[in-house]
Amino acid sequence: MHVLEAWELYRFFHIGDDETAALRGVNLHVGLGEIVAVVGPSGSGKSTLLSCITGLDEPDGGHVAVAGVRLTRRSETVRARMRAAHFGILLQSGNLFPHLTVEQNIRLQMLMAEKSDQNRIILLLDSVGLAHRASALPIELSGGETARAGLAVALAADPPILVADEPTAEVDRDTESRLVRQFEARREAGLATLVATHSMALAGRADRILSLKDGRIENG
Ligand code: ADP
Ligand code: MG
Repeated sequence: MHVLEAWELYRFFHIGDDETAALRGVNLHVGLGEIVAVVGPSGSGKSTLLSCITGLDEPDGGHVAVAGVRLTRRSETVRARMRAAHFGILLQSGNLFPHLTVEQNIRLQMLMAEKSDQNRIILLLDSVGLAHRASALPIELSGGETARAGLAVALAADPPILVADEPTAEVDRDTESRLVRQFEARREAGLATLVATHSMALAGRADRILSLKDGRIENG
């Protein structure tokens, strides 16, 4: 079953008289137990695609369905509810509330998905190697720690679908392997993962790789 499907997504941006076609008819689907990687040069539309897929942005054409239910062209309230129920999202930045500790950030995410579980917070912190940083504020974290804390937040509610935008962009090899292991554990648990990445180490572990160029999928 395809838990995540996108049909003919189009997204245009206008700045003055200039039009950028960031997505030009993108189709994709991700099944349970699948890791799908989206690769492509900077500016090819990866982040725009992930924003439209998660309902953070609205495509100008086409639609997205999650677990068979259309997400596109719903009210912001409905989209937010569907996001909380289905997605864990790791963006390129801004994944943590700056005034909350790592642990509080994870707990808040669980509260929003109505899945509070103190034991799981401890397990999550441990699995991303941040057990000793639970009470640190985001400003006190290194780049790699920030990425891992963001991943712990994205995984907090054990989401059926994880969407991650370049999760290994600023991390060292060790952290990268740790993140790859997290994604593989999700596959084993039958969960879906969609990841935009430049990392061949990460894309190499995916079940499928979609190459995006100028807003179009070149294979798939
Ligand atoms: P990638 O993540 O692959 O680097 P993006 O999805 O960020 O690519 O960008 C795709 C194209 O859309 C680029 O040309 C970018 O400049 C443009 N773009 C993205 N977001 C906006 C925006 N909010 N306003 C104007 N142009 C945008
Ligand atoms: Mg991007």
